[in-house]
Amino acid sequence: MTLHVIVLGSAAGGGFPQWNCGCDNCQSARRGESGFEARTQDSVAVSADGKNWFLLNASPDVLVQVQRTPELWPTGLRDVPIAGVVLTNGDLDHCLGLFLLRESQPLTIYATRRVEEGLRKNVALRTLERFEGHSRWHPLALEREVELLLPSGAKSGIFVLPVAARGKPPLHLMGVMDPHEEDNILLRIRAGTRKLVYASAVADAAPHLEEFASCDALLLDGTFWSEEELPGLGLSLGPAKTMAHQPISGERGTLRKLSDLKGPRRLYTHINNTNPVLNPASPERSTLEAAGWEIARDGLRMELG
Ligand SMILES: [Zn+2]
Repeated sequence: MTLHVIVLGSAAGGGFPQWNCGCDNCQSARRGESGFEARTQDSVAVSADGKNWFLLNASPDVLVQVQRTPELWPTGLRDVPIAGVVLTNGDLDHCLGLFLLRESQPLTIYATRRVEEGLRKNVALRTLERFEGHSRWHPLALEREVELLLPSGAKSGIFVLPVAARGKPPLHLMGVMDPHEEDNILLRIRAGTRKLVYASAVADAAPHLEEFASCDALLLDGTFWSEEELPGLGLSLGPAKTMAHQPISGERGTLRKLSDLKGPRRLYTHINNTNPVLNPASPERSTLEAAGWEIARDGLRMELG
């Protein structure tokens, strides 16, 4: 059994370059400088048979991502190989794509009750309820592995274990809904014995070391290089921890905390446009690569099996 993985988008919210950002990285990407690849917003596609695919998050860039991924193109007039979407949280960067996938196409969505509840506060969600069965929601319960189902009800061979990961409610629900352990999850995706851990928003990796060590590939939150990345640029934004992202570097960074992790293929994803690792000539990039880590990029394919 092979677990097929396609990284559809590898940037944090805003993408790379980000429309309103004039930082050195973004300007280099706009100028098309060598090594500064543009990136769309975080999303992954997984499949057990190479035919039916599930999206892990539906990013605001989903239409572009589908367009440039032949595996996701329709195979008939309304036959799509996208069998469903699994959400890791209710951030717009991970959910806006749902609204772009409407067009009266039945949609299967897996999410925690909490994330579904948050989305249902928005009346726009009714655009996915144009007819009976337009969108079908499957609740994900923490620590309970489920097999994802194809639209026909058949088993997909893809198993998902949702694990609570320290995060925060989406920005637009701050003060509207209290923080909850189901706000943000990481996913262990399994086909047969092959496992991918997808943890694109994690405030603290420490509770998950065992899960990370036993997988074949790890896609980990690489939003920020350092705790003070945004305030350090003179932006009136808080440190990484106020955004519930553990930085890569520093005393409490994932590079140090996971230094014993040697088994799985290790990739940082969900990379913010300000992160110096996006510069291929940066010392930060060398440090990361010397430690055996890679930077995920859009279109990266992995065949685990
Ligand atoms: Zn920028």
